[in-house]
Amino acid sequence: MIIVFKPGIPRKKESAVLKEIRKLGYTPHVMRGVARTVVGAIGDELTHANLETLTAQFPDAVESVMPIQKRFKLVSREAHPANSTVRVREHVLGGKRFHVMAGPCSVESEKQLLTTAKAVKAAGATILRGGAFKPRTSPYEFQGLGEKGLKLLDKARRETGLAVITELLSENHAGMVAEYTDIIQIGARNSQNFQLLIAAAKTGKPILLKRGLSMKIEEWLLAGEYVLANENPNLLFCERGIRTFETYTRNTLDLAAIPIVKHESHCPVVIDPSQGAGRADLVATMCKGAVAMGADALLVEVHPNPVEAWSDGAQQLSLEAFAKLMKDLKPFIAAVGRE
Ligand code: PEP
Ligand code: MN
Repeated sequence: MIIVFKPGIPRKKESAVLKEIRKLGYTPHVMRGVARTVVGAIGDELTHANLETLTAQFPDAVESVMPIQKRFKLVSREAHPANSTVRVREHVLGGKRFHVMAGPCSVESEKQLLTTAKAVKAAGATILRGGAFKPRTSPYEFQGLGEKGLKLLDKARRETGLAVITELLSENHAGMVAEYTDIIQIGARNSQNFQLLIAAAKTGKPILLKRGLSMKIEEWLLAGEYVLANENPNLLFCERGIRTFETYTRNTLDLAAIPIVKHESHCPVVIDPSQGAGRADLVATMCKGAVAMGADALLVEVHPNPVEAWSDGAQQLSLEAFAKLMKDLKPFIAAVGRE
């Protein structure tokens, strides 16, 4: 940590702060500038008290305390300068090939899921999405089919050859969900549920980590750090919109997160324009933007009959709209040098 002293403080006060730094288990290195004195405190923050309290403890002497290094390590570009790739069955995400994950918000029935799966595959998607456990804002809304939904996803996987992604809501279900899915989705409402992240990481399955509704990018990267720190290198960051004051869209899809996360981290970035905009009419445009800005994959909600969907009807694309989107995306994918 870097400790910045206030200007002109007496040496006696400085010494008291330095003594406290040593007491907390750090070695202080004092650097005297013309106007300011700063201290580099070297030590292991995992096993020692955080020095941030020095500002409260010595309000007359300490102006600020800042970390020397970034707080995330394993997800950072410094740890792994090249882009990392995530293998999902025969597919490689984060590589030359651009991937599209598509399917209904919720698994509702065998017919609904299989019809969608076949259509999205024919249009060029490689991964089937579908929620079996649904994190609904109200307890009176459809909560998902649970294990029955997982079994339907598994059936769709066997019949179409598509890989599958589905959300994990509870640590108790980690083993069960891992049995039926190829990627575990951690939803926006759970992206800082650290015990859930650890349980998901420990299944060994690739993890798609949504950005939380009010999560800063640094917090999102740190949440991802939990996955890598638990010996699971297969992490995908998924931007799905953050909550702002804007009401034209359900969320504000933060496309700037693509170049920022790509700069800070080596992990692939996925964009979910469906939760991001909450409006089917905006999905195609947001997808084109995401491809152009360097996203590695998309996660798109598709339903055979969106108006009758049991969840998120307003944002799901029809099968026809999805097929058109896949065609329209081709020149954008080629323009960024991908397939
Ligand atoms: C979803 O993908 O249907 C979903 C619930 O996503 P999020 O967690 O981003 O809201
Ligand atoms: Mn949804």
